[in-house]
Amino acid sequence: MKSQTNKKQFDYLIVGAGLFGSVFAHEAKKKGKTCLVIDKRNHLGGNVYCESIEDINVHKYGAHIFHTNDKKIWDYVNNLVEFNHYINSPIANYNGELYNLPFNMNTFYQLWGVKTPEEAKNKIQEEIKELNISNPKNLEEQAISLVGKDIYFKLIKGYTEKQWGRKATDLPAFIIKRLPVRFTYDNNYFNDKYQGIPVGGYNKLIDALLDGIETMTDQDYFENNAEWNAKAKTIVFTGRIDEFFGFKYGKLNYRSLKFESKTLDTDNFQGNAVINYTDSTTPFTRIIEHKHFEFGKQKKTVITKEYPQEWEEGKEPYYPVNDTINNDLFIKYRDLADKETNVIFGGRLAEYKYYDMHQIIASALKKAADFI
Ligand code: FAD
Repeated sequence: MKSQTNKKQFDYLIVGAGLFGSVFAHEAKKKGKTCLVIDKRNHLGGNVYCESIEDINVHKYGAHIFHTNDKKIWDYVNNLVEFNHYINSPIANYNGELYNLPFNMNTFYQLWGVKTPEEAKNKIQEEIKELNISNPKNLEEQAISLVGKDIYFKLIKGYTEKQWGRKATDLPAFIIKRLPVRFTYDNNYFNDKYQGIPVGGYNKLIDALLDGIETMTDQDYFENNAEWNAKAKTIVFTGRIDEFFGFKYGKLNYRSLKFESKTLDTDNFQGNAVINYTDSTTPFTRIIEHKHFEFGKQKKTVITKEYPQEWEEGKEPYYPVNDTINNDLFIKYRDLADKETNVIFGGRLAEYKYYDMHQIIASALKKAADFI
């Protein structure tokens, strides 16, 4: 985009009302700048958006649990909204057997009846030694060499194969670098110091960030980018980077997800927010029961089954596929992006990178500090 000297209506046009765009807009407003935030979806919030069904905040684009070790980020969000004390403690269902996650003393007791950390360590070491894999050739061998065969076959293999749509023996070993095992009776999935869900759901956080900022939904930047560009001095673009450049080098690939939600006439379906289905035959990877994120007491409940899918145009691009082909392609687009003078690229789609929420907030704060 060429730099323009005529008077523009806004300092920033922000394409995408997800967390990145919303944090950037919030920071710009604090510094006295004007922003227009647009989104092609019919709502604000991007992937953290919650839809209210039966008075339950349904995480429309997948379960979102806020966690961070960074006090600055925790204080930032807590200054905007109140967080509850939700701690993520998923359960694994393997062909009807239930196990605690992440792998900890509760899991080891359920698997083998072992009661002390020493017994559990010995059991894992025995299994690792038994198969004696010194140079893992694929994800399966890598996982077995780290945690042994029982944990791998019951809790990792099926889930991972469904996630990637490929056999674990056909997946590269590097996908799994570490498999944390915890020798304490601690079911808290995250190791971070701070964790929770905004009281009243994530829309409250987005509303607080975008308070006093002009927003428009159902507006696709690419349907009329010349007109949008004319409105602001600088564009903050959080959509797909390859689309920004007309896919001139080809399309970046993603993994997608299909969500199947149901309202049930019961107040408690599964007793936990997240249950992972770790066998190979169940076609979905997880069932989310949304009310448990906020300790809901509603009469009904809403559950969502999550099915990993190949991505194609028209489906949501959820997870970047950071293999060599796609990373190389991304670098070509990033080189083009670096040459743009009036466009700031940020967020998971423009940076082709998986970011957790606390990381996207940190990234938006950094870009805002550097550029505004
Ligand atoms: P997005 O939220 O995707 O926002 C980008 C916005 O840009 C979208 O609303 C899109 O509609 C809009 N847009 C794109 N193109 C255009 C266009 N042409 N015109 C107008 N608008 C456009 N993080 C955690 O910390 N904890 C979790 O538990 C967690 N769970 C997750 C589960 C799933 C299934 C996924 C996929 C992610 C999860 N995350 C989680 C990550 C979290 O969703 C991201 O960090 C965050 O949403 C990224 O924000 P963003 O603004 O970069 O992108």
